[in-house]
Amino acid sequence: MAMTRSRRTTLSDIPKYRIGIDLGGTKMHAVVVNRHGKPLGSARRPTKSEVGYRDVLKRLRDTALEALADAGIGLRDIRSIGLGMPGPVDQARGRVVVAPNLGWSDKPVAEDLRMLLRRPVVLANDVNCGGLGEATYGAAKDATSAAAAFVGTGLGGAIILAGKVINGAHGFAGEIGHVPAPFDDAPCSCGRRGCLETVASKTGITRMILANQASGLRCRIKIAKDAKVRSSDLLRAWQAGCPSTRRAIKASARGVAWGLAAFGGIFDPEVFVLGGGVIEAMGSIFLPLVRDQLRIYSLLYSNRRPDVRLAALGDDAVAIGAAVASVEVLP
Ligand SMILES: [Zn+2]
Repeated sequence: MAMTRSRRTTLSDIPKYRIGIDLGGTKMHAVVVNRHGKPLGSARRPTKSEVGYRDVLKRLRDTALEALADAGIGLRDIRSIGLGMPGPVDQARGRVVVAPNLGWSDKPVAEDLRMLLRRPVVLANDVNCGGLGEATYGAAKDATSAAAAFVGTGLGGAIILAGKVINGAHGFAGEIGHVPAPFDDAPCSCGRRGCLETVASKTGITRMILANQASGLRCRIKIAKDAKVRSSDLLRAWQAGCPSTRRAIKASARGVAWGLAAFGGIFDPEVFVLGGGVIEAMGSIFLPLVRDQLRIYSLLYSNRRPDVRLAALGDDAVAIGAAVASVEVLP
């Protein structure tokens, strides 16, 4: 007859998996990772923020459960959930400060999601999660310090020092997109004018192509005034030699380099990481442009080659970084 043994809690009893979720304005993406950050399963859903806060929370729960099913792991094996939010967060209080894309402000997201999944939830800013993911398991995993710039619809940045992402006193550290830049005086999504994002983003590239067209420069892509241009369209126009597109992309890369030069002057990181939708589509075009311009802008790199790398985790970066952020708070 088998003896019943009393079980002592050992280190191996501590749940060893994490869920990281990237909550964006249009989609949510959950990834289950093991203790080495390896993705084991994932799931996606549209965010549908227009149907309201409670409904988005339920969709987050369902997406997390679907990712678990995909990984073949039960909720009881999950130590914590990291949630990357599109906006600044108050991590200690588990509240999102403001997320304009979702229409949320001062919401107790961590507690509300914990009630639905019965697991601790840690909030972090999505761009900081992307930087943390790349610094821990991606392009800068061998570096102790890194600055990341994510070029997409807007421009986000992240600072990593000694393997930790710097959030800052108000969650705004690394937020280079809305620093005034010496390029243009175009209106910005934030309501002010001349922010770096008005140049160093897909929105900026589109605006500059339209301006180049209006000034009589030839153009091979059609852009309706309020239409969203896909990064793949920009790539095709570049490859076709479109003069308006080429000039706009060079100006945008110059803006990205200006932002990296500022990071270089502030904390001299070992590695710069370029990520985001525009870079995923056109990284091989941006990388040399940014590197060359960085050498022109920066005294530091005038006779030293800057280590600029393309992000390696792709679409998983924010979700994986959110899982890492939850490890930092709940080891
Ligand atoms: Zn701005």
